Amino acid sequence: MAFGVAKPGPLAESLGSAQGNLSPPHIAGVGDGVAHPIEKDGNDVKPSGPSGEPNCSLANCIGLPIDDIAGREKLSTVEGGHCEPGECDPTVIQSHIVMKRVFKILKILALCLGVLVLALGILLFVTFSGGLPIADGQRLDGVEVVKDGIVSAFIVDIDDHSVALVDAGNDRQAKPILRALARRGLGVEAVKAIFLTHGDRDHTAGVLAFPRAEVMALEPDVALAEGRAVKSLFKHFASPRPNGIKVARPLRNGETLQVGGLGVRVFAVPGHTPGSAAFLARSVLFMGDSAEATKDGKLAAGHWLFTENPALDRASLRQLAARLQPFAVDVKAIACAHSGVLTSGLAPLAELAAGEK
Ligand SMILES: [Zn+2]
Repeated sequence: MAFGVAKPGPLAESLGSAQGNLSPPHIAGVGDGVAHPIEKDGNDVKPSGPSGEPNCSLANCIGLPIDDIAGREKLSTVEGGHCEPGECDPTVIQSHIVMKRVFKILKILALCLGVLVLALGILLFVTFSGGLPIADGQRLDGVEVVKDGIVSAFIVDIDDHSVALVDAGNDRQAKPILRALARRGLGVEAVKAIFLTHGDRDHTAGVLAFPRAEVMALEPDVALAEGRAVKSLFKHFASPRPNGIKVARPLRNGETLQVGGLGVRVFAVPGHTPGSAAFLARSVLFMGDSAEATKDGKLAAGHWLFTENPALDRASLRQLAARLQPFAVDVKAIACAHSGVLTSGLAPLAELAAGEK
């Protein structure tokens, strides 16, 4: 590395003696013939001109006019440095410039990604901050809430030794559900049936942890639950991938099932997905993602951001409220998948439906 105006290199000396002036030192045969060398580490080395201004740049070395490149490339300089002969390697200079451009592009990309992540974080916070928190372990009459991250699964009693699940949670090994069962002295084999409110992965991931359970979902969501179809919101970003889940019994709107001593009524509420279902069992209305419970005890339609057809979802909720009116006394609580349980009967759904008219 050479610094200092007062110490010209050998070529500069020869050029200087030929020109009677040591500055600027030029290297013949590179670029336009007025090229200047650089340090081996790629830094620009600028000898001082008569005015003391650096006047040697990388641009000269590769034969590009400085003015053409100024403003596009802020080439580093070594104050008071001067060019050494043989150090002006066009390949090094070119790679130096390319690397600077690559770093610049990477910086812009990183900035864009950061802004995107921040915006998404704010959006999710705003979306979920108004929801009633999920109370893990909350017990209703014959129903237990299991919090699995951002989503709930529900253990519904069949009898003392067997249970059904409404959804299977977001954990592939179903650890939160297995822990809840273990607290009752039950194991995997106790789960006889799994009712899927819809086919999204955050509700189906734990299904394979219960190989003896009969899996049920409304027919339009069977392919989604089994991974043979992709939710329409993501069809441009993902492709179907079978996940090993097998829906043994496709359900129909309006039917009532009996699993041992447990009766389950099935209602189609398309909107969040085409095959979204609500189930009424043990006096609890399970809504999946078709609705959300708010902190002030109300029920809201499923958030538009995650709902395939928000207008259809709201229409389904109105229809559900009307269908359940004759059984209003049978509904003691409403349980949504991503928020807490409302325990004021059917009223929140009736209010929501009335507001939608
Ligand atoms: Zn969900």
